[in-house]
Amino acid sequence: SLEQGPEGPETPIQVVLRVRPMSAAELRRGQQSVLHCSGTRTLQVSPPGGGPEVAFRFGAVLDGARTQEDVFRACGVRRLGELALRGFSCTVFTFGQTGSGKTYTLTGPPPQGEGVPVPPSLAGIMQRTFAWLLDRVQHLGAPVTLRASYLEIYNEQVRDLLSLGSPRPLPVRWNKTRGFYAEQLRVVEFGSLEALMELLQMGLSRRRSSAHALNQASSRSHALLTLYISRQAAQQMPPVEPGEPPVGGKLCFVDLAGSEKVAASGSRGELMLEANSINRSLLALGHCISLLLDPQRKQSHIPFRDSKLTKLLADSLGGRGVTLMVACVSPSAQCLPETLSTLRYASRAQ
Ligand code: ADP
Ligand code: MG
Repeated sequence: SLEQGPEGPETPIQVVLRVRPMSAAELRRGQQSVLHCSGTRTLQVSPPGGGPEVAFRFGAVLDGARTQEDVFRACGVRRLGELALRGFSCTVFTFGQTGSGKTYTLTGPPPQGEGVPVPPSLAGIMQRTFAWLLDRVQHLGAPVTLRASYLEIYNEQVRDLLSLGSPRPLPVRWNKTRGFYAEQLRVVEFGSLEALMELLQMGLSRRRSSAHALNQASSRSHALLTLYISRQAAQQMPPVEPGEPPVGGKLCFVDLAGSEKVAASGSRGELMLEANSINRSLLALGHCISLLLDPQRKQSHIPFRDSKLTKLLADSLGGRGVTLMVACVSPSAQCLPETLSTLRYASRAQ
Protein backbone atom coordinates (compact mmCIF):
# COMPACT_ATOMS: atom_id res chain seq x y z
CA SER A 1 0.00 0.00 0.00
CA LEU A 2 1.17 3.53 -0.76
CA GLU A 3 0.04 4.62 2.72
CA GLN A 4 3.41 3.43 4.01
CA GLY A 5 5.25 5.62 1.55
CA PRO A 6 7.86 8.19 2.56
CA GLU A 7 6.86 11.16 4.73
CA GLY A 8 7.77 13.92 2.30
CA PRO A 9 6.96 14.19 -1.37
CA GLU A 10 10.21 12.52 -2.57
CA THR A 11 8.57 10.35 -5.19
CA PRO A 12 6.78 12.89 -7.36
CA ILE A 13 4.59 10.50 -9.35
CA GLN A 14 2.97 7.36 -8.07
CA VAL A 15 1.13 4.98 -10.34
CA VAL A 16 -1.62 2.60 -9.29
CA LEU A 17 -3.28 0.20 -11.70
CA ARG A 18 -6.94 -0.73 -11.33
CA VAL A 19 -8.50 -3.58 -13.30
CA ARG A 20 -12.27 -3.28 -13.32
CA PRO A 21 -14.42 -6.43 -13.09
CA MET A 22 -15.77 -7.99 -16.29
CA SER A 23 -18.99 -6.22 -17.23
CA ALA A 24 -22.24 -8.15 -17.67
CA ALA A 25 -22.04 -7.52 -21.42
CA GLU A 26 -18.47 -8.83 -21.64
CA LEU A 27 -19.48 -11.96 -19.68
CA ARG A 28 -22.52 -12.49 -21.91
CA ARG A 29 -20.30 -12.36 -24.97
CA GLY A 30 -18.15 -15.02 -23.32
CA GLN A 31 -15.01 -12.87 -23.29
CA GLN A 32 -11.88 -14.13 -21.61
CA SER A 33 -9.97 -12.21 -19.00
CA VAL A 34 -6.39 -11.69 -20.09
CA LEU A 35 -5.13 -9.89 -16.97
CA HIS A 36 -4.03 -11.51 -13.72
CA CYS A 37 -2.62 -9.87 -10.63
CA SER A 38 0.35 -11.64 -9.16
CA GLY A 39 1.09 -10.30 -5.69
CA THR A 40 0.11 -6.73 -4.90
CA ARG A 41 2.32 -4.93 -7.42
CA THR A 42 2.55 -7.03 -10.58
CA LEU A 43 0.13 -7.43 -13.43
CA GLN A 44 0.46 -10.41 -15.75
CA VAL A 45 -0.90 -10.09 -19.28
CA SER A 46 -1.61 -13.37 -21.10
CA PRO A 47 -2.42 -12.69 -24.73
CA PRO A 48 -5.14 -14.94 -26.13
CA GLY A 49 -3.83 -17.71 -28.37
CA GLY A 50 -0.89 -18.40 -26.08
CA GLY A 51 1.49 -15.58 -26.98
CA PRO A 52 4.28 -14.77 -24.51
CA GLU A 53 3.17 -13.37 -21.15
CA VAL A 54 4.14 -9.80 -20.30
CA ALA A 55 4.42 -8.41 -16.77
CA PHE A 56 4.08 -4.80 -15.58
CA ARG A 57 4.96 -3.49 -12.13
CA PHE A 58 3.24 -0.54 -10.45
CA GLY A 59 3.05 1.06 -7.00
CA ALA A 60 -0.04 -1.08 -6.46
CA VAL A 61 -2.17 -3.32 -8.65
CA LEU A 62 -5.84 -3.73 -7.76
CA ASP A 63 -7.99 -6.39 -9.38
CA GLY A 64 -11.73 -6.47 -10.03
CA ALA A 65 -12.49 -7.84 -6.58
CA ARG A 66 -11.20 -4.71 -4.85
CA THR A 67 -13.79 -2.33 -3.44
CA GLN A 68 -13.90 1.44 -3.69
CA GLU A 69 -12.68 1.60 -0.08
CA ASP A 70 -9.75 -0.75 -0.93
CA VAL A 71 -8.81 1.54 -3.81
CA PHE A 72 -8.99 4.67 -1.66
CA ARG A 73 -6.70 3.08 0.94
CA ALA A 74 -4.25 1.58 -1.52
CA CYS A 75 -3.87 4.91 -3.31
CA GLY A 76 -2.75 6.67 -0.14
CA VAL A 77 -4.84 9.71 -0.98
CA ARG A 78 -4.84 10.80 2.67
CA ARG A 79 -1.11 11.37 2.38
CA LEU A 80 -1.72 13.69 -0.57
CA GLY A 81 -4.35 15.47 1.52
CA GLU A 82 -1.87 15.97 4.37
CA LEU A 83 0.64 17.44 1.91
CA ALA A 84 -2.03 19.77 0.50
CA LEU A 85 -2.80 20.95 4.06
CA ARG A 86 0.90 21.77 4.41
CA GLY A 87 0.78 23.94 1.30
CA PHE A 88 1.78 21.52 -1.45
CA SER A 89 -0.12 21.04 -4.69
CA CYS A 90 -1.16 17.44 -5.26
CA THR A 91 -3.01 15.86 -8.16
CA VAL A 92 -4.92 12.63 -8.61
CA PHE A 93 -5.79 11.65 -12.15
CA THR A 94 -7.40 8.68 -13.82
CA PHE A 95 -6.17 7.50 -17.20
CA GLY A 96 -7.49 4.83 -19.55
CA GLN A 97 -9.80 4.07 -22.44
CA THR A 98 -13.50 4.92 -22.35
CA GLY A 99 -15.36 2.34 -20.25
CA SER A 100 -12.29 1.33 -18.20
CA GLY A 101 -13.62 2.78 -14.92
CA LYS A 102 -12.03 6.24 -14.66
CA THR A 103 -15.18 8.06 -13.62
CA TYR A 104 -16.29 5.16 -11.40
CA THR A 105 -12.94 5.25 -9.62
CA LEU A 106 -13.06 9.00 -8.98
CA THR A 107 -16.75 9.60 -8.34
CA GLY A 108 -18.53 6.23 -8.19
CA PRO A 109 -21.34 5.04 -10.48
CA PRO A 110 -23.99 7.46 -11.74
CA PRO A 111 -27.33 7.39 -9.87
CA GLN A 112 -29.61 4.62 -11.17
CA GLY A 113 -32.55 6.99 -11.45
CA GLU A 114 -34.08 10.24 -10.31
CA GLY A 115 -33.86 10.43 -6.52
CA VAL A 116 -32.16 7.03 -6.20
CA PRO A 117 -29.11 7.64 -4.02
CA VAL A 118 -25.80 5.88 -4.75
CA PRO A 119 -24.87 3.67 -1.76
CA PRO A 120 -22.03 5.24 0.28
CA SER A 121 -19.98 2.05 -0.17
CA LEU A 122 -19.71 2.89 -3.89
CA ALA A 123 -18.48 6.46 -3.36
CA GLY A 124 -15.31 7.18 -5.28
CA ILE A 125 -11.91 8.58 -4.34
CA MET A 126 -13.22 12.15 -4.54
CA GLN A 127 -16.14 11.81 -2.11
CA ARG A 128 -13.92 9.82 0.28
CA THR A 129 -11.19 12.45 0.15
CA PHE A 130 -13.74 15.23 0.69
CA ALA A 131 -15.12 13.50 3.81
CA TRP A 132 -11.62 12.87 5.13
CA LEU A 133 -10.52 16.47 4.46
CA LEU A 134 -13.53 18.13 6.08
CA ASP A 135 -13.11 15.92 9.14
CA ARG A 136 -9.38 16.62 9.28
CA VAL A 137 -9.91 20.38 8.97
CA GLN A 138 -12.46 20.32 11.78
CA HIS A 139 -9.93 18.69 14.10
CA LEU A 140 -6.99 20.91 13.12
CA GLY A 141 -7.87 23.68 15.51
CA ALA A 142 -6.49 26.27 13.06
CA PRO A 143 -8.59 28.32 10.69
CA VAL A 144 -8.63 26.92 7.17
CA THR A 145 -10.33 28.47 4.19
CA LEU A 146 -11.58 25.97 1.62
CA ARG A 147 -12.59 26.76 -1.93
CA ALA A 148 -13.36 24.71 -4.99
CA SER A 149 -13.50 25.10 -8.75
CA TYR A 150 -14.62 22.58 -11.35
CA LEU A 151 -13.96 22.85 -15.06
CA GLU A 152 -14.03 20.77 -18.19
CA ILE A 153 -11.67 20.92 -21.17
CA TYR A 154 -13.39 19.89 -24.39
CA ASN A 155 -11.78 20.42 -27.80
CA GLU A 156 -9.16 22.66 -26.12
CA GLN A 157 -11.91 24.91 -24.74
CA VAL A 158 -12.33 25.47 -21.01
CA ARG A 159 -15.89 25.32 -19.69
CA ASP A 160 -16.75 26.28 -16.10
CA LEU A 161 -18.89 23.49 -14.61
CA LEU A 162 -19.87 25.70 -11.66
CA SER A 163 -20.70 28.84 -13.63
CA LEU A 164 -23.87 30.69 -12.85
CA GLY A 165 -25.77 30.91 -16.10
CA SER A 166 -24.69 29.26 -19.32
CA PRO A 167 -20.94 28.76 -19.52
CA ARG A 168 -18.82 30.58 -22.09
CA PRO A 169 -15.38 29.23 -23.02
CA LEU A 170 -12.79 30.70 -20.65
CA PRO A 171 -9.39 31.87 -21.86
CA VAL A 172 -6.32 30.39 -20.14
CA ARG A 173 -3.84 33.10 -19.15
CA TRP A 174 -0.52 33.27 -17.38
CA ASN A 175 0.99 35.77 -14.98
CA LYS A 176 3.95 35.78 -12.60
CA THR A 177 2.06 35.36 -9.35
CA ARG A 178 -0.58 32.89 -10.41
CA GLY A 179 1.06 30.93 -13.19
CA PHE A 180 -1.52 29.55 -15.62
CA TYR A 181 -5.18 30.07 -14.76
CA ALA A 182 -8.58 30.02 -16.41
CA GLU A 183 -9.80 33.60 -16.44
CA GLN A 184 -13.13 34.26 -14.68
CA LEU A 185 -13.33 30.70 -13.41
CA ARG A 186 -15.81 30.55 -10.52
CA VAL A 187 -14.02 29.61 -7.28
CA VAL A 188 -16.52 28.86 -4.56
CA GLU A 189 -15.81 28.99 -0.84
CA PHE A 190 -17.43 26.17 1.13
CA GLY A 191 -17.60 25.32 4.81
CA SER A 192 -19.19 21.90 4.96
CA LEU A 193 -19.02 18.48 3.35
CA GLU A 194 -22.63 18.89 2.17
CA ALA A 195 -21.80 22.14 0.38
CA LEU A 196 -18.82 20.54 -1.36
CA MET A 197 -20.87 17.48 -2.37
CA GLU A 198 -23.42 19.85 -3.91
CA LEU A 199 -20.70 21.50 -6.00
CA LEU A 200 -19.53 18.07 -7.14
CA GLN A 201 -23.07 17.02 -8.09
CA MET A 202 -23.62 20.26 -9.96
CA GLY A 203 -20.52 19.68 -12.07
CA LEU A 204 -21.22 15.97 -12.59
CA SER A 205 -24.75 16.56 -13.77
CA ARG A 206 -23.55 19.22 -16.19
CA ARG A 207 -21.01 16.77 -17.57
CA ARG A 208 -23.70 14.10 -17.93
CA SER A 209 -26.20 16.33 -19.66
CA SER A 210 -23.57 17.49 -22.11
CA ALA A 211 -22.64 13.83 -22.67
CA HIS A 212 -26.20 13.24 -23.78
CA ALA A 213 -26.27 16.15 -26.17
CA LEU A 214 -22.75 16.00 -27.51
CA ASN A 215 -22.07 12.43 -28.52
CA GLN A 216 -20.61 11.17 -25.23
CA ALA A 217 -18.77 14.43 -24.67
CA SER A 218 -17.96 13.38 -21.10
CA SER A 219 -15.64 10.65 -22.33
CA ARG A 220 -14.09 13.09 -24.79
CA SER A 221 -13.36 15.80 -22.21
CA HIS A 222 -11.05 16.25 -19.24
CA ALA A 223 -12.72 17.33 -15.98
CA LEU A 224 -10.67 19.07 -13.26
CA LEU A 225 -12.00 19.65 -9.77
CA THR A 226 -9.59 21.67 -7.66
CA LEU A 227 -9.69 22.23 -3.90
CA TYR A 228 -7.80 25.29 -2.66
CA ILE A 229 -6.69 24.93 0.96
CA SER A 230 -5.51 28.02 2.77
CA ARG A 231 -4.37 27.85 6.39
CA GLN A 232 -3.89 31.56 7.11
CA ALA A 233 -6.21 33.18 9.61
CA ALA A 234 -8.97 35.02 7.77
CA GLN A 235 -7.63 38.51 8.65
CA GLN A 236 -4.11 37.60 7.47
CA MET A 237 -5.26 36.41 4.09
CA PRO A 238 -3.53 38.19 1.26
CA PRO A 239 -5.85 40.42 -0.70
CA VAL A 240 -7.55 38.28 -3.29
CA GLU A 241 -8.89 39.60 -6.54
CA PRO A 242 -12.40 38.52 -7.43
CA GLY A 243 -12.30 34.89 -8.52
CA GLU A 244 -8.63 34.53 -7.65
CA PRO A 245 -7.84 31.60 -5.38
CA PRO A 246 -5.76 32.36 -2.27
CA VAL A 247 -2.20 31.12 -2.08
CA GLY A 248 -1.97 27.76 -0.34
CA GLY A 249 -2.16 24.05 -0.90
CA LYS A 250 -4.17 22.49 -3.69
CA LEU A 251 -5.70 19.14 -4.33
CA CYS A 252 -6.73 18.54 -7.90
CA PHE A 253 -8.77 15.60 -9.22
CA VAL A 254 -8.66 15.00 -12.95
CA ASP A 255 -10.96 12.65 -14.86
CA LEU A 256 -9.09 12.48 -18.17
CA ALA A 257 -10.70 11.94 -21.56
CA GLY A 258 -10.70 8.39 -22.93
CA SER A 259 -7.23 7.51 -24.19
CA GLU A 260 -8.37 5.27 -27.07
CA LYS A 261 -7.27 6.08 -30.53
CA VAL A 262 -10.11 7.38 -32.63
CA ALA A 263 -9.74 5.98 -36.14
CA ALA A 264 -8.63 8.84 -38.34
CA SER A 265 -10.20 7.46 -41.50
CA GLY A 266 -13.94 7.74 -41.71
CA SER A 267 -14.39 10.05 -38.74
CA ARG A 268 -16.20 13.25 -39.44
CA GLY A 269 -14.66 16.68 -38.94
CA GLU A 270 -16.03 17.07 -35.42
CA LEU A 271 -14.64 13.72 -34.30
CA MET A 272 -11.28 14.45 -35.89
CA LEU A 273 -11.05 17.70 -33.98
CA GLU A 274 -11.91 15.88 -30.74
CA ALA A 275 -9.42 13.10 -31.40
CA ASN A 276 -6.68 15.57 -32.23
CA SER A 277 -7.18 17.66 -29.12
CA ILE A 278 -7.42 14.61 -26.85
CA ASN A 279 -4.36 12.93 -28.31
CA ARG A 280 -2.51 16.20 -28.19
CA SER A 281 -3.22 16.86 -24.52
CA LEU A 282 -2.60 13.27 -23.41
CA LEU A 283 0.65 13.24 -25.38
CA ALA A 284 1.61 16.60 -23.88
CA LEU A 285 0.83 15.27 -20.39
CA GLY A 286 2.91 12.13 -20.97
CA HIS A 287 5.75 14.22 -22.36
CA CYS A 288 5.76 16.65 -19.41
CA ILE A 289 5.68 13.75 -16.94
CA SER A 290 8.59 11.96 -18.57
CA LEU A 291 10.69 15.15 -18.57
CA LEU A 292 9.80 15.80 -14.93
CA LEU A 293 10.91 12.28 -14.02
CA ASP A 294 14.19 12.42 -15.85
CA PRO A 295 16.85 13.37 -13.24
CA GLN A 296 19.18 14.68 -15.95
CA ARG A 297 16.58 17.15 -17.12
CA LYS A 298 15.38 18.47 -13.75
CA GLN A 299 16.32 22.02 -14.64
CA SER A 300 15.25 21.83 -18.24
CA HIS A 301 12.27 23.43 -19.85
CA ILE A 302 9.02 21.51 -19.42
CA PRO A 303 6.59 22.16 -22.30
CA PHE A 304 3.49 22.83 -20.20
CA ARG A 305 2.32 25.27 -22.87
CA ASP A 306 1.61 22.47 -25.32
CA SER A 307 -2.02 22.00 -24.17
CA LYS A 308 -4.63 23.58 -21.91
CA LEU A 309 -4.54 20.47 -19.74
CA THR A 310 -0.81 20.70 -19.06
CA LYS A 311 -1.03 24.47 -18.57
CA LEU A 312 -3.68 24.10 -15.89
CA LEU A 313 -1.77 21.24 -14.21
CA ALA A 314 1.63 22.97 -14.47
CA ASP A 315 1.98 24.07 -10.86
CA SER A 316 0.78 20.72 -9.52
CA LEU A 317 3.03 18.67 -11.79
CA GLY A 318 6.02 20.99 -11.66
CA GLY A 319 5.78 21.89 -7.99
CA ARG A 320 6.89 19.87 -5.01
CA GLY A 321 3.63 18.02 -4.56
CA VAL A 322 2.76 14.43 -5.32
CA THR A 323 0.89 13.28 -8.40
CA LEU A 324 -1.05 10.05 -8.28
CA MET A 325 -2.04 8.39 -11.51
CA VAL A 326 -4.69 5.70 -11.38
CA ALA A 327 -4.46 3.79 -14.66
CA CYS A 328 -7.74 2.00 -15.38
CA VAL A 329 -8.11 -1.05 -17.62
CA SER A 330 -10.69 -3.64 -18.61
CA PRO A 331 -9.70 -7.30 -18.15
CA SER A 332 -11.28 -8.47 -21.40
CA ALA A 333 -9.37 -9.84 -24.38
CA GLN A 334 -11.22 -7.53 -26.73
CA CYS A 335 -9.76 -4.45 -25.02
CA LEU A 336 -6.19 -5.80 -25.02
CA PRO A 337 -4.68 -3.43 -27.62
CA GLU A 338 -5.93 -0.35 -25.72
CA THR A 339 -5.04 -1.98 -22.39
CA LEU A 340 -1.44 -2.48 -23.53
CA SER A 341 -1.21 1.14 -24.61
CA THR A 342 -2.55 2.25 -21.19
CA LEU A 343 -0.06 -0.04 -19.42
CA ARG A 344 2.83 1.39 -21.44
CA TYR A 345 1.76 4.98 -20.82
CA ALA A 346 1.41 4.26 -17.09
CA SER A 347 4.77 2.45 -16.94
CA ARG A 348 6.55 5.39 -18.51
CA ALA A 349 5.11 7.70 -15.83
CA GLN A 350 6.98 6.04 -12.96
P1 ADP B 1 -14.84 5.63 -17.99
O1 ADP B 1 -15.10 6.82 -17.12
O2 ADP B 1 -13.39 5.19 -17.97
O3 ADP B 1 -15.34 5.79 -19.38
P2 ADP B 1 -16.79 4.38 -16.30
O4 ADP B 1 -16.25 4.78 -14.97
O5 ADP B 1 -17.94 5.16 -16.80
O6 ADP B 1 -15.63 4.38 -17.40
O7 ADP B 1 -17.09 2.83 -16.24
C1 ADP B 1 -17.74 2.13 -17.30
C2 ADP B 1 -18.83 1.23 -16.72
O8 ADP B 1 -18.27 0.22 -15.89
C3 ADP B 1 -19.81 2.00 -15.86
O9 ADP B 1 -21.10 1.44 -16.02
C4 ADP B 1 -19.30 1.76 -14.45
O10 ADP B 1 -20.33 1.90 -13.49
C5 ADP B 1 -18.75 0.34 -14.55
N1 ADP B 1 -17.60 0.11 -13.66
C6 ADP B 1 -16.38 0.66 -13.80
N2 ADP B 1 -15.53 0.24 -12.84
C7 ADP B 1 -16.24 -0.60 -12.05
C8 ADP B 1 -15.93 -1.36 -10.88
N3 ADP B 1 -14.71 -1.34 -10.31
N4 ADP B 1 -16.91 -2.11 -10.34
C9 ADP B 1 -18.15 -2.14 -10.90
N5 ADP B 1 -18.50 -1.45 -11.99
C10 ADP B 1 -17.56 -0.68 -12.58
MG1 MG C 1 -15.87 8.66 -17.68
